[in-house]
Amino acid sequence: MKEIILIKNGELALKGLNRSSFEDILIKNMKKRIRDLGEFTFTKSQSTIMVDPVDDDIDLDDAVDRISKVFGIAALSRACVCEKDFDSIKKTAQSYLKEQLEDAKTFKVEAKRSDKKFPMKSPEISRELGGYLLSKFKNLKVDVHNPDIIVTVEVRDKYAFVRGNNIKGAGGMPTGTSGRAGILISGGIDSPVAAYMMAKRGIELCAIHFASPPYTSELAEMKVMELLKRVAEYSGVITTYVVKFTEIQEAIRDFCPEEYFTVIMRRVMMMIAERLAKFQNCSALITGESVGQVASQTMYALACTDCAVDMPVFRPCIGMDKEEIIAVSRKINTFETSIQPYEDCCTVFTPKHPKTRPHIDDVLAAEAQIKNLDIMIETAVSNAKKVIIK
Ligand code: ATP
Ligand code: MG
Repeated sequence: MKEIILIKNGELALKGLNRSSFEDILIKNMKKRIRDLGEFTFTKSQSTIMVDPVDDDIDLDDAVDRISKVFGIAALSRACVCEKDFDSIKKTAQSYLKEQLEDAKTFKVEAKRSDKKFPMKSPEISRELGGYLLSKFKNLKVDVHNPDIIVTVEVRDKYAFVRGNNIKGAGGMPTGTSGRAGILISGGIDSPVAAYMMAKRGIELCAIHFASPPYTSELAEMKVMELLKRVAEYSGVITTYVVKFTEIQEAIRDFCPEEYFTVIMRRVMMMIAERLAKFQNCSALITGESVGQVASQTMYALACTDCAVDMPVFRPCIGMDKEEIIAVSRKINTFETSIQPYEDCCTVFTPKHPKTRPHIDDVLAAEAQIKNLDIMIETAVSNAKKVIIK
């Protein structure tokens, strides 16, 4: 039995003239994602892309799982290819969908006939196949409104396809159709979610992580890499910089008033991230901040952070409650890793009472107290360690 994967485009079907190039990017992204599983051919036809495994021994379960995380896909399904005669179609439906049909209580058949030379019209195929399946599966009843399983038959140029229910796709836009941005990634819950949300809109990611050894451990860094790997299952490859931040944090501690520690630290992080992001042709930065989540994430503090850089800063979690952010992190499977208890550099030297309404003039004055900040930033940028996450 020959099986293929059928892909239904999501939002990109709406993109009119750009549609074809968007589809090409989507195909390129899918190819990259399943390349190591074996050889596949990709064929575009109407609003469907057919993914056809060339060898018999390809792990289609794995391919479907990976493709279900590629952005730009509304729905996908596995389909069985069969000869274009009704006898093959009904036998195929009976054997290929056996388990699903045995488990279901209700079903309906939908037929699509793009080859108008096929002797039966669509309603006739539906009716005849429905009757046949009812005679073979005594557990089944027809329900045209809300069936447990929809058996779809598509009669195309060369073959017919038989398939069961669709699998929901990852939605969004194909990665790479909206430019590149740099995510400031911590080991927390929010920033992996922020990364996922922007990648979903078609943005290609690079990542910047700040580590402060010996205050932060090797394990904390490994945790961040693990989080990025999970995000990369959706976003594709993430070029990541790990920046050593210890000297800068110690200098902030030594030279600045405690109540400004966090806002200045965040500003310096932004400055370094902006430079590294530019190396990667990024046009924006992304953070996992959310208004009011902690004392350092007030609107006033965020405004002081923003003006440290020229790039726009995207904060997709900005209006979300923690519970809502956690729901996404569970969905993308980062939650369990995020809650592992390792120190982040943000929790080193945390002020007891951060200024919730910092004024930019005061922040700049405090920041100016740090000796050789420019040189330290330069050093941190040039010593950043580059890691490719895929
Ligand atoms: P959580 O709030 O769940 O601990 P978080 O990732 O939001 O996780 P915060 O301390 O709230 O952590 O930091 C706010 C934002 O600052 C993060 O979302 C992230 O974008 C950035 N950030 C914090 N720490 C780091 C770090 N060590 N490296 C890079 N970016 C960081
Ligand atoms: Mg947070």
